[in-house]
Amino acid sequence: MGYDDFEGVIGLEVHAHLLTKSKLFCSCSTEFGAEPNSHTCPTCMGLPGALPVLNKKVVDFAIKLGLALNCTINRRSIFARKNYYYPDLPKGYQISQYEEPICENGYLDITVNNEKKRIRIKRIHMEEDAGKLVHESTIEASTYSLVDYNRSSIPLLEIVSEPDIRTPQEAVQYLKMLRDCLIYLEICDGNMEEGSFRCDANVSVRKRGTQEFGTRTELKNLNSFKYIEKSLDYEIKRQIEIIKSGQEVVQETRLFNVDQGITYSMRGKEEAHDYRYFPEPDLLPLIIDDAWIKKIRQELPELPFEKMERFIKDYGLPRYDVEILVSDRYLADYFEETVKRFPEPKTVSNWIMTELLRELKERNLQPNNPPITPERFAELLSIIKDGTISIKIGKDIFPELCERDISPKELVYEKGLTQITDESAIGAKIDEILSKFPKEVEEFRAGKEKLLGFFVGQVMKETKGKANPKVLNELLLKRLKG
Ligand code: ADP
Ligand code: MG
Ligand code: ZN
Repeated sequence: MGYDDFEGVIGLEVHAHLLTKSKLFCSCSTEFGAEPNSHTCPTCMGLPGALPVLNKKVVDFAIKLGLALNCTINRRSIFARKNYYYPDLPKGYQISQYEEPICENGYLDITVNNEKKRIRIKRIHMEEDAGKLVHESTIEASTYSLVDYNRSSIPLLEIVSEPDIRTPQEAVQYLKMLRDCLIYLEICDGNMEEGSFRCDANVSVRKRGTQEFGTRTELKNLNSFKYIEKSLDYEIKRQIEIIKSGQEVVQETRLFNVDQGITYSMRGKEEAHDYRYFPEPDLLPLIIDDAWIKKIRQELPELPFEKMERFIKDYGLPRYDVEILVSDRYLADYFEETVKRFPEPKTVSNWIMTELLRELKERNLQPNNPPITPERFAELLSIIKDGTISIKIGKDIFPELCERDISPKELVYEKGLTQITDESAIGAKIDEILSKFPKEVEEFRAGKEKLLGFFVGQVMKETKGKANPKVLNELLLKRLKG
């Protein structure tokens, strides 16, 4: 890994936008991309006298995630004001949770290099998002900022891990699994570009084998897996260099410069905010009873890590395949729908990972909107298996099956692609080719056996790829050697 006798120590704070229709403390819409400031009211604008009313759906979601991540759901939790000044924050404080969050002490198991590792979750709490500053790119506009408060008070869950992560790869794996989990639970769309799933990383380094933690820096606003991995790797190496040269790491907040691939200081410890947290006086403590938790528990779907274990066990698939299939709930469903009709899991998985994913990508489609139904996908695999068509032809016609509303059998019939298995028909073609190339036949018989491929190719060309390869090979060898 290139860290010598040092190791990284990483703790992640993830912010996930929730898929509720309305905001955390008012009934304004959370829809993305609306006309600036059209989704606002006195409450989310923080006007004096406006009172917050808690959106119960957000609590449902927090409990859901808490249960999925094996947390304790606190029967009593409180909201707190986190005070700081910024133009995108109309009230001058964010309502969050501090000392008594809704969920605590959970974990998420990840698998890196085939080894299972448990990452503890310290806490999950609810909070409201801030608004957004907008900068136009004209020269006149460089002298002012615009503020859009549509995002103000959109509900977030913040998920804070313990510093159990040791490498950038583990961090990315943890984030991918957490994101999958949120998407499976249908509480967050996981869209990193729109900022619905973003991450701050706390990083320090220490000598391998030591227990004590080093001074940490915080990397802010990481919003792609690639940059998270790169920036963490850079930051760990940077801190190791500092320590090796006898200096000390400074506690500070840093940003990642994508173009240069380096992190740089944003603000030091002195400029760190003192949030002066105190309990939110306008909201009562949140009390959750057993019935509420029980109801949510009953609604929990199968989670990605559970599905992964089941796919490995029931279908005998390699973990590599399973990680791809389960990475999308609909892709996993597609796989299972197909296997029901064509019970050869590994073949189905191979075709999904290569042919289907390629067609999805080329058509810019998501697995919940596939260009070919699982029924037809299974039918294609069946007619390859029973020898009606060859694998090669199956792959050739796959794009057309995705393009048109036609079943594989219909298309094969329409194009006259049925494989030729009849020995006399193939034999006749072989005879034709052998008499056309007497010199090559001589050479083959003199020991140049790799010419077999040449003859196969010639017959395939003549039959437009329809000759059954097994029959063709057998007959060809018989005739050449005989
Ligand atoms: P704060 O209250 O300053 O935000 P927390 O204790 O809540 O600090 O920790 C914030 C995040 O930083 C957590 O994800 C935690 O795992 C991580 N963290 C704490 N100490 C370290 C450290 N020495 N190195 C790396 N990460 C750390
Ligand atoms: Mg914190
Ligand atoms: Zn509002």
